[in-house]
Amino acid sequence: MLIPRLHPDTIEDVRLRADIVDVISDHVVLRKRGKDFVGLCPFHEERSPSFSVNPTKQMYHCFGCDTGGTVIKFLMEFEKRQFTDVVVYLAQRYQIPIKTLEPEQRQELQRQLSRREQLYEILASAAQFYQHALRQSLGKQAMTYLLSDRQLAVETIQRFGLGYAPIGWETLYRYLVESKNYPVQLVEQAGLIKPRKEGGGYYDVFRDRLMIPIMDVQGRVIAFGGRTLTNEQPKYLNSPETELFHKGKTLFALDQAKDGITKLDQAVVVEGYFDAIALHEKGVNHAVASLGTALSLEQVKLLLRYTNSKQLVLNFDADRAGTNATEKAIGEIATLAYKGEVNLKILNLPNGKDADEYLRNHTAADYQQLLATAPLWLNWQIQQLVSDRDLRQATDFQQVMQQIVKLLQKIANSDTRNYYISYCAEILSLGDTRLIPLRVENLLTQIAPSNIRHLTPRLSKPQSDPKLTLLNQERGLLELAEALLLKIYLHCAEQRQVVIDELDKRDLEFSFSHHRLLWQQIALLPLEEDNLISSLHNMYLELDAELDSVAHLFHLNEKSIKDIMRTPLVVQTALACMEISLGENRSSHFATLWEKTDPALEPEKFKYYAEALYAEKLKLQELYKQRQFPLSELF
Ligand SMILES: [Zn+2]
Repeated sequence: MLIPRLHPDTIEDVRLRADIVDVISDHVVLRKRGKDFVGLCPFHEERSPSFSVNPTKQMYHCFGCDTGGTVIKFLMEFEKRQFTDVVVYLAQRYQIPIKTLEPEQRQELQRQLSRREQLYEILASAAQFYQHALRQSLGKQAMTYLLSDRQLAVETIQRFGLGYAPIGWETLYRYLVESKNYPVQLVEQAGLIKPRKEGGGYYDVFRDRLMIPIMDVQGRVIAFGGRTLTNEQPKYLNSPETELFHKGKTLFALDQAKDGITKLDQAVVVEGYFDAIALHEKGVNHAVASLGTALSLEQVKLLLRYTNSKQLVLNFDADRAGTNATEKAIGEIATLAYKGEVNLKILNLPNGKDADEYLRNHTAADYQQLLATAPLWLNWQIQQLVSDRDLRQATDFQQVMQQIVKLLQKIANSDTRNYYISYCAEILSLGDTRLIPLRVENLLTQIAPSNIRHLTPRLSKPQSDPKLTLLNQERGLLELAEALLLKIYLHCAEQRQVVIDELDKRDLEFSFSHHRLLWQQIALLPLEEDNLISSLHNMYLELDAELDSVAHLFHLNEKSIKDIMRTPLVVQTALACMEISLGENRSSHFATLWEKTDPALEPEKFKYYAEALYAEKLKLQELYKQRQFPLSELF
């Protein structure tokens, strides 16, 4: 719309009445800290919050990139909007009358604004019409559905303003346009009627449906959801997008839930209208419903404004569709979640029930209990990754490993990352606790290289934990040793039997999953296979397995040719390296257990760990001697 010059009074009023915390919260997740609010700066990349909003001064400032100013400046910068445009927007948002310098223009602006007011009025009238119809004989079936099928109390029906859209093509049209004299274009713009394709005139969008009004945060009706009472498709029909209603920015029942969310410092998102309604009826009043679409980032930010510790629980259906919706929502929120800006949990109710079904036989306290123990989103995702997989199968293991690495790589906080590394290591060890340290290192090596460089481009210092760096270096050597051994096998047919025998004799396994997969495929082919490499290529393609991680082994460069020239020595050294690495893992594992054990409390265990540690050390001494020449020369 054409924006006229604004009167200085209006600009001043907007400055005084617009709430900077409220406005900025639409775009930045803010946490209260002392008198201020802080969050991650939207104007520069950062991982710890240096963006601060001062509600007393109504100013924001970023200590990282030094931007700052008023709420008007914020919206201009953030949304790249014009000054006047922003002021008009804020004036509308805070119901500030707009004065312009030229009276005619003011009139035009007032006309546009009053149009919005009229849309609200039309929607409110429609809601009353539907509520009235529900209580007439024509609404009997709908009422029975609510009272019997949904088992809702009369007060709940009242509280959520539920109604009934009568059968017939123009009952609402006649009421709004002919009896109440609302302009037909406005009724159409409110999303309630549509022009007929032929013959002129209009017809009602909602017919013979149970009507659920959708409110904005202030509790004004902005749209409807209509549920069919017959077998008509779709089961749920929503109002179209209008000037007042944007699906991706609206949450059902937020007006009723916002106080509960603040009080409990947690928000619950369910899938269906009736899930939310059932929860509220039972007194779980911090629940909202997404509107049949995937939960959007904007919807999440809207919710997070009301909870200080940013706790969000997604309770979607446990069926395939619900799981997909959950995955989608996680994808949408992942950037926030990885940065720790939202504390996201996933709740799947027992026996695949939705909230509405669950509450038929359970109390609110039961539900609250489930909320309290719902897994964090990453735990849930990891569980999803391993469910229906047989980790004893090399391909499954390999694929799960890769997916886990992808998940964990994105965790910014190193404590959280380390926690998940051990969590996954335990799962990947399949109950064999001796394997845990190995799996931990497996994950560390695969996660570390790209992760550390990727997420902290401006990190000048190397990793702060020298132990971890050393660990990674050693892992690097082990990976090289394994790779070398595989290369020798692939390119040096006369050494193949030696490699097999030695691995067997020393009871060694490849510890990197991509090496292990390759080895398993090799084992499927005869020893004297002439086209070993091209056969392997085809096998990988058939398996649809990641070839990149092993492809370099299929080719020889000058260095590897030199290595292969002195193969017998290299084989011995590579094997020794592998064995040493495993031995060192085991011994540090036992050392940790031994240190953690109190000899007074658990003398048996204490003695066992000490002996195991000693045995490992002895074995290692022997292995060090077996290394034919220094590792530095080999690699
Ligand atoms: Zn900044």
